[in-house]
Amino acid sequence: MSKHHPLLQSFGALLVLDADSRRIQAVSSNLAALIGISVSEGHDQTVSGVLGRRLSQRMRRELQGQQRLAGPLTFTRPANSTRLQLYAYRTGMHVVVEIEPLNSLGKRRLLGTVNERLIRLAESSNQEELLDCLVRAVQELTAHDRVSICHFDSDWNGLIVAEACTGRLPPLLGQRFPANDFPVTLRCAYERHPVRLIQDVAAPSEHLVPSGYPVELNDSFLRAPAPERQYYLRRLGVRGAFSVAIHGDTALWGLLFCHSALPHPVAPPVRDAVRTLVQMATQRLLLLRARQEARYLQRVQDSLVLSANSQLEPQSPHQLLLEQADTWMTLFRAHGVTLWANGSIFQAGNTPTPEAISQFVVRLKKAHVHSGPWCTRDVENEPLTSSLAMPGQCGALAVPLLMSTSQRGWLLFFRPEQVETFYWAMQPKMAPQAPLMTLPSAAWHEEVVGKSEAWQRVERLAAMDLGEDLTLAISAYEISSLNMHLKRERKALAEANKRLEQLAHFDPLTQVWNRYRIEQAIDAEIVAAKRYGATCALMLFDVDHFKQINDTHGHSVGDDVLVSLARLVEGSLRGCDHLGRWGGEEFVVLATHSDMEAAVVLAERLRGLVATLHIEAIAQPITVSIGVAVWRPGDSCKTLVARADVAMYRAKRSGRNRVEVATKEIF
Ligand code: GH3
Ligand code: MG
Ligand code: MG
Repeated sequence: MSKHHPLLQSFGALLVLDADSRRIQAVSSNLAALIGISVSEGHDQTVSGVLGRRLSQRMRRELQGQQRLAGPLTFTRPANSTRLQLYAYRTGMHVVVEIEPLNSLGKRRLLGTVNERLIRLAESSNQEELLDCLVRAVQELTAHDRVSICHFDSDWNGLIVAEACTGRLPPLLGQRFPANDFPVTLRCAYERHPVRLIQDVAAPSEHLVPSGYPVELNDSFLRAPAPERQYYLRRLGVRGAFSVAIHGDTALWGLLFCHSALPHPVAPPVRDAVRTLVQMATQRLLLLRARQEARYLQRVQDSLVLSANSQLEPQSPHQLLLEQADTWMTLFRAHGVTLWANGSIFQAGNTPTPEAISQFVVRLKKAHVHSGPWCTRDVENEPLTSSLAMPGQCGALAVPLLMSTSQRGWLLFFRPEQVETFYWAMQPKMAPQAPLMTLPSAAWHEEVVGKSEAWQRVERLAAMDLGEDLTLAISAYEISSLNMHLKRERKALAEANKRLEQLAHFDPLTQVWNRYRIEQAIDAEIVAAKRYGATCALMLFDVDHFKQINDTHGHSVGDDVLVSLARLVEGSLRGCDHLGRWGGEEFVVLATHSDMEAAVVLAERLRGLVATLHIEAIAQPITVSIGVAVWRPGDSCKTLVARADVAMYRAKRSGRNRVEVATKEIF
């Protein structure tokens, strides 16, 4: 039928008016029969002449500047006191008026039913209960033989998820309708007009008078079903059909359809009531789904947070995986999980080999540059994974972990094959002209193999969340282990420094200051002496006949003598005096704040002390010869030591085991 020969259903009548809504241009062929208004063909008639002045004025007023009436107008024809409903909308240069008789319906009873059902819908706690409640409510309102809810999957195949059936039509619950039963044009029509009534598929249709009047009636509620649709419904054994779109937040979620084996009217108030129930149910459905998703996301997030809270130190990626793998596999319905971080692979459950994972990751890096997750339910036929060895795997979900601008890790989940049986209500992809079949013999089933369960949107979202948290956890671990490393390094460095200082400042044999360090101390004392006028004295002493000790008892006994002597002298000094080894068996004592008198007393005390030293195996006493020099202006470290040295040699020459005092001059 061309668009200028539109066919109409007979449960309502239709008037085509000019753009001003003043003159009638065409009418449906059933106008007179249905509502007793006759418009003679070829005669130009005014709207007010046919609908009455008040009604036509009201309609004109409410249509002014509007595309359609906000709601239907009701009126009564005085001739036979039938109540009618009128609806009008603009199309092109015309106004189309649809008129339908209103049977006296218990409006109050209808409202009561709707209210009671609305409450039950609002109380339902899961999708199944909600949809079940909806189909029962609608069945009660419309009294169709079968009320079903069809939910579309991502390929636009429809699955019957809820149903109320009286037995006059076979049940369809659990069966699928292929996507080509719901062509784009049909889905678009539901976007624009969520409600569709086909009162009788087989009824002869009405036409416009004058026939061929050029007006577009695709938006008319009364338009007759297209021949394909008629054929389709007849194949289902349906004569009366009524359907309402269920809109999700982005696309058509599904359809509620009511079928009857016999022609089946649905009065306007019932249609409105059903629409209200569907809208309410849709809101509840979205809310339940949002709640369920939020709970799921929360559980995924908790899996990391709880583990982090129970630990003082951040955990390594390996520890994290060990601890959380089972939880994650349950949450993501996976049988294997792999964490690829900083070039290391951590795995749990059933996963491909590390070699296959490495190749997988290389390809992901190249092909999947954006930050969202990548997934497939069919690794064998997915170009990115088809040539990888992944036995036992069908589904893979890969989440990039953005460790740094240049580095990405991966969190990978794997799913096994999930053989699914689809019960098709009718053979998919069957040409509309195929022979008529009656249900349920037409139902057939199909085994879908080689695929895993699909990765749900909320699972992909949760995986992203987990990926982000995991990235943070791994970074925290890296920072903490870097810090730990740094701490260890610092400690090692401090110890090395200490050792170096020991080496630089102490004599390794006697553990007293070495020559370098005692010279530093002498220099510092000379600076203080110059600046503050303090005095200091220096004693240089040398073991007498030490060569003999070495020669008689061996070098190591000689060493013992040096060590014992150093300990003895060091132990007898004030805290502000210092002992250093000058070289060989020569030592220096730096006595701060000491004048000559005090220095001589100290030197004599040390000489006497050393003479008491007793070393096993050495019979003769160990003695020292001491040269004492007191700082005086003009002395450097070098001259001070030289003067003490001269005094010491004098002590040697004078018979050893004695103290000599330096003279003014060096020589
Ligand atoms: P004098 O009374 O004139 O000082 O006689 P001496 O034998 O002590 O003098 P001399 O300088 O001839 O001998 C010093 C010896 O000390 C020579 C050297 O082998 C020895 N000596 C130097 N350093 C060490 C050391 O670290 N350990 C030991 N066991 N001997 C050392
Ligand atoms: Mg010597
Ligand atoms: Mg000596």
